[in-house]
Amino acid sequence: MIPEADDAPDAAHVGGCLCGAIRYRLASEPVDPGYCHCRMCQRFSGAPVMAFASVPLPDFRIEKGDPVRVRSSSVGERWFCGDCGSSLAMWVDHAPDMLDFATVSLDDPTWLPPAFHIWRESRIGWFDTIDALPRHERERP
Ligand SMILES: [Zn+2]
Ligand SMILES: [Zn+2]
Repeated sequence: MIPEADDAPDAAHVGGCLCGAIRYRLASEPVDPGYCHCRMCQRFSGAPVMAFASVPLPDFRIEKGDPVRVRSSSVGERWFCGDCGSSLAMWVDHAPDMLDFATVSLDDPTWLPPAFHIWRESRIGWFDTIDALPRHERERP
């Protein structure tokens, strides 16, 4: 069972960048964890896929530092550490009250496994995961 976020800060609900300049805490349980294979996530993360989940924007509590926010496309912006470059979050215009964050930036990301794949059409041919999760060519219907 996932502990309540407000009980006490625990590794499941806190995270940050590689260098430690940015630390955050989740104030509610994240929803819709998934993999994104889109080209923007690939370039942003320097990895073949990103694992992300969503929380209400005010519940992504930045407790140390200030992420750089870059307008990365016509639909949204990406947040990262200006010191070490770690990918932290994506924010999109069409869902301004929510934030998608990189789940692997949690101190303990093990409890939040992805539940689906999106943008499969951009999947790199040499990379795949062994699972039976739903795979969507683009966004989720
Ligand atoms: Zn950093
Ligand atoms: Zn993506």
